[in-house]
Amino acid sequence: MTIAVERLDELVTALRSVLRDEQILTSKPDRYNRARVPAPFPVHRWAERLPDLAVLPTSTEEVAGVVRIANDLRVPVVPRDGGTGLTDGAVPLRGGIVVDVKRMNAIKELDLGNRTVTVGTGISMLKLNEQLAQHGLFYPDNPASYPCSLVGGRIGTSGWSLIGSRYGHTRDLVLSFDHVLPTGEVMHVGDGIGHKVSKSSSGYQLKHLFMGHQGTLGIATEATLKLFPKPEAELSPFWAFDNYDDAYACVGALARAGVATFAGSVLFDEWKVAYLRRDDEAYIPQPSDVRALVCAVMYGYEDEVRPAGKRLFRIAKEHGARYLGDEISEGDWAARHDRYATPMHGRTKAGQVVPMSWHCEDAAINYTNLPSVTKAWHEIVADLRRGTDVFDDWGMFAYTQGNTGVDYLTEIDVGIWEQQLDDRAWEMWVKAKRDIAAVALAHNGSISACHGSCREGEVDLVPDELGRGFDVMLDLKRTLDPNNIMNPGKYLLDRAYEPGTPL
Ligand SMILES: Cc1cc2nc3c(=O)[nH]c(=O)nc-3n(C[C@H](O)[C@H](O)[C@H](O)COP(=O)(O)OP(=O)(O)OC[C@H]3O[C@@H](n4cnc5c(N)ncnc54)[C@H](O)[C@@H]3O)c2cc1C
Repeated sequence: MTIAVERLDELVTALRSVLRDEQILTSKPDRYNRARVPAPFPVHRWAERLPDLAVLPTSTEEVAGVVRIANDLRVPVVPRDGGTGLTDGAVPLRGGIVVDVKRMNAIKELDLGNRTVTVGTGISMLKLNEQLAQHGLFYPDNPASYPCSLVGGRIGTSGWSLIGSRYGHTRDLVLSFDHVLPTGEVMHVGDGIGHKVSKSSSGYQLKHLFMGHQGTLGIATEATLKLFPKPEAELSPFWAFDNYDDAYACVGALARAGVATFAGSVLFDEWKVAYLRRDDEAYIPQPSDVRALVCAVMYGYEDEVRPAGKRLFRIAKEHGARYLGDEISEGDWAARHDRYATPMHGRTKAGQVVPMSWHCEDAAINYTNLPSVTKAWHEIVADLRRGTDVFDDWGMFAYTQGNTGVDYLTEIDVGIWEQQLDDRAWEMWVKAKRDIAAVALAHNGSISACHGSCREGEVDLVPDELGRGFDVMLDLKRTLDPNNIMNPGKYLLDRAYEPGTPL
């Protein structure tokens, strides 16, 4: 708890002017539950990063009321949607109020003529799509966390969709949204500040400023989203290769083919294949000569997907691919949303199975730099592993970003044996994360393509990546959040408030 008891009483009394008692949660379990995230942050110091209380607003007005009170009383505010973010964005570093928007999950308007839907940002894509299916429509933001991450968190992280090569990612799919500024004022952002306009040239493009800020610039409360026809056909072939180089060449050729129904392809490297092979619960049977895998996905009408699929099969064959069959292909693609939900089997250096949790570092890397980054990242994790059994290398994925194949979401998955995590192991991990980010920058990549980069380790290099742009971020933060109440401590933005920092 970071607020003195008498100030907490003052805060609760003030909050009662905008919320009912049952919307204000102060118990220990409520506070612990709302500080929990999937990856260790580190777990052995969980108790240091709890909110003083959590609130459950049901409308934009209530969120604005809470933020206004917090700004008046100088209390930190941390927005939380699904709590699935992987860089601790929703972890309260300075206590304060967690604003949990899960009750704001209604479909407000379905506009069939303009093909949009307006929702509360506490809704998940799964729940939304269950409703849209009745109209033959879908909202194609499709992260691996599809059932459990929510629209507001997707905005807060500007997330990555696994079928983004066809439909775009969160930033392309969210047309506009209501946004509560750190002062409690409410604004609407979108192209041209319009509600349902997707291309405008009026003024600054503020929509992008208020996406991916990890809750440091306010809270999205109601969003208008683009819709597409629900695909009639989905084709998701998995191909096996006896070496990484052929798989790498294949994934590039698939992405560059310019096939309109192409929704994405994924490269599994040798380490990932080894990890899947040794895990009893993996969906893909792994004969010993499989060294790499490629999956491609096509979405569309039956009569466009089948011929397009033939073309991709031809390309794969030219690169030495072996098709793994319909059952494995469909099963593995279907498993993309729960691949990480099964119990995690890490291994010590001696091969002993131990419980581990999943941690992933991601970057945006050009196609031509993938092999070199892959090698360098595995060396960093091998170094870690030489020092301790706390970490295990679970291999790498590379996902196409768009249908030109210029850059990839590149991720290395690391198992962490949380029960053994201590300050020494955590320091080793933070250094490794910094090294992983440095490799991305040395290859002209971005530290994050997907989850953001606001956690110890990689965050240290954000000023290096952005250069003068980072100073502009500081200026914007201080202007919009004069009292540093929105998610303080994230993204090194506290620097904006250091004495002598010019505005
Ligand atoms: C198994 C698994 C698979 C994943 N796969 C993917 C993937 O494929 N692609 C991908 O992009 N991510 C993936 N992630 C990461 C995570 O799901 C995304 O970052 C997601 O966008 C976070 O959404 P959330 O609702 O859980 O947000 P939270 O974790 O609650 O919040 C994330 C950040 O956004 C801020 N925020 C939350 N709500 C709001 C709001 N209403 N307005 C403004 N800011 C807000 C928070 O303060 C925090 O900084 C995965 C995570 C898991 C656990």
